[in-house]
Amino acid sequence: MPELPEVEVTKKGIEPYLQGAVISDLVHDEKQLREPYSKDMRAIIGGRVTAVERRAKYIIIRTDRGALILHLGMTGHLRVLSQNDQSGPHDHFSLFLDSGTVIRFNDIRRFGLIVYVGPDEDPLEDKHLSGLGPEPFDAKFDEGYLFNALHRRKLPVKQSLMDNKVVVGVGNIYASEVLFKVGISPLRKSYEVKKNECRALCQAIRETLTESIAKGGTTIRDFSGADGKMGYFVQDLFVYGHKGQPCRKCGTTITSLVQGGRSTFYCPHCQK
Ligand SMILES: [Zn+2]
Repeated sequence: MPELPEVEVTKKGIEPYLQGAVISDLVHDEKQLREPYSKDMRAIIGGRVTAVERRAKYIIIRTDRGALILHLGMTGHLRVLSQNDQSGPHDHFSLFLDSGTVIRFNDIRRFGLIVYVGPDEDPLEDKHLSGLGPEPFDAKFDEGYLFNALHRRKLPVKQSLMDNKVVVGVGNIYASEVLFKVGISPLRKSYEVKKNECRALCQAIRETLTESIAKGGTTIRDFSGADGKMGYFVQDLFVYGHKGQPCRKCGTTITSLVQGGRSTFYCPHCQK
């Protein structure tokens, strides 16, 4: 599933083609994605792209005739192609640009989302985005903020870190890895995390995501290519998926358990 780094890499990949371009047409199939396509979506045709942004795992394409909000869902990806390239199976949506480029959205499982927001509305206030917590790279996301957010929560800290209202972009894999980095057990109650640990957590979250984005950046050439294979980079993981293997720091066997329906991996010696 695409996580924040993959979405950031996708956003960076399509941005140079979109910035300043005029949307000349758009085509989508009849069957809906996670939600129906906005009925008034064609109002964006003729709009010039003014900005391409990412918010959580959503990509926002702003134009002077409104904006598109895209979510890749479970299996979605975007490809940059020429208008001469035929669309293939699972290509559900195509955005044609005056430059002759077409951006196609491919999604086998159809959990993705594409909605239109009119020029008088702020896409960040759209119902999909308005309730989201801060970006991990936002200045607002600091130790004081995180401490307050965790202090009010009784759930295990791992589940709070994955809560979009606390911070966006910390998926299941990252939550396990970040807690290992800072030596906090995923079982610890959120309100038991201390302020200095919150500082370490903020830093570890930023470092881990930055590293992933940097590695993902190396696959941009593949992403832009006609084969459309995004080639999600393999993470350098310390605990996630390493059940039964020795901890890379201390040699203790990595343990796993299920929290909130998701697998958690941790070192019972390094993480308290
Ligand atoms: Zn260990």
